[in-house]
Amino acid sequence: MNFPKYIIKGATLPNGDQRDITIENELIVALSQTGSATPISTDHVVIQAKDCRVLPGLVDLHTHLREPGREDSETVLTGSRAGARGGYTALSAMANTSPVADTAGVVEQVFRLGQEAGYLDVFPIGAVTEGLLGLSLSEIGAMADSIAHVRIFSDDGNCVFDPLLMRRALEYVKKFGGVIAQHAQDPRLTIGSQMNEGEISARLGLKGWPAVAEEAIIARDVLLNDHVKSRLHICHVTTAGGVEIIRWAKQRGINVTAEVTPHHLLLSDEVASTYDPIFKVNPPLRSEGDVHALREGLAEGIIDIVATDHAPHPTESKECEWQEASFGMLGLETALSIVQKTMVDSGLLDWQQVAERMSHAPARIGGYDNQGQAIAVGSVANLVVIDPSRNWLVDRDLTMSKATNTPYHGHTLPGVVTHTFFKGRATVIDSTVEKIGEVQ
Ligand SMILES: [Zn+2]
Repeated sequence: MNFPKYIIKGATLPNGDQRDITIENELIVALSQTGSATPISTDHVVIQAKDCRVLPGLVDLHTHLREPGREDSETVLTGSRAGARGGYTALSAMANTSPVADTAGVVEQVFRLGQEAGYLDVFPIGAVTEGLLGLSLSEIGAMADSIAHVRIFSDDGNCVFDPLLMRRALEYVKKFGGVIAQHAQDPRLTIGSQMNEGEISARLGLKGWPAVAEEAIIARDVLLNDHVKSRLHICHVTTAGGVEIIRWAKQRGINVTAEVTPHHLLLSDEVASTYDPIFKVNPPLRSEGDVHALREGLAEGIIDIVATDHAPHPTESKECEWQEASFGMLGLETALSIVQKTMVDSGLLDWQQVAERMSHAPARIGGYDNQGQAIAVGSVANLVVIDPSRNWLVDRDLTMSKATNTPYHGHTLPGVVTHTFFKGRATVIDSTVEKIGEVQ
């Protein structure tokens, strides 16, 4: 395919320098001083970006794309389009599909669907245990050797609860540099749990989900990994205690990384008082104190990355009684705005640090080639352009996702993604998702 050539004029790089960025044939071919005589031929598409920030394309390590099996909620194609609109150039597809991604066949299917969609890289995550049942290890080696080249393994949705299986999984992936991403939730302590255990759950009469159910598993697994010396990643940390355990582990030199979701950076369990199941999520929204600790933990780098836990559900699974509703909320199209609102506008992170936590670090953890690269001549042009000075109104009926379960419907958020580039081709232009193959 013959790609158009682009010049992004006057965008501010993560380090604060203002540059004109020339993109040709998948690559960044020039970074010139803004205002210098950049040769512009008529075949360059010029993008005026003097009020904008340009960041390396965002990389999500935690996306539920639902295909195969729940295409009524999301498909690889619709999820890819939602990701592109949110500024992502790579997604990691969680394994809790139907069938479960626990064989080379399923991960290769998801990988191919991502390539066919073509909006961004879709990297499948393999299940740790067969059928996510927590009883025996899945075909980890076969998935690692497949064309999908799986490096992250997770039973997300379920916790790998058996410590012996967790140990074996950590040992297995150590052989090829893989990582186990743990959904830290003691299942015995959370039977029937509906929301964070605390004052509000007591007042509402909803079964509580204690912080210790998460923290006990994080503590166990960092100790296990200290013993095994493999790679451990903690999914969606939600409690102040969890941050403290990870801080302790890192100080001790244990190889652990951790993620926080945008919604846990913004929302507390107060919103459950509305009884609106749009706020029902696993792990649950925690206390104001936890939200504060998560922001501090992300600012300090104790929590390495932001990951969306984008979890689409059909309307009937969310517009019902709280007790019956599914856990989860959309995240891809709003993540960068929520991070700007909670972390940048509050002065906790600068844009260079946002690039680290939403692109460079997740690409490193996943071992994703050509993602999370510095914006430099010769890099593959995976980029997002954002106008932080503009606001936008979230409208669930305009989402690219097949589902509509965003908790931000009707809210105004800061930061508009104006352009996304995937391998040198614009997938989003003026906030509109481009049809792949339209430009020849
Ligand atoms: Zn999870």
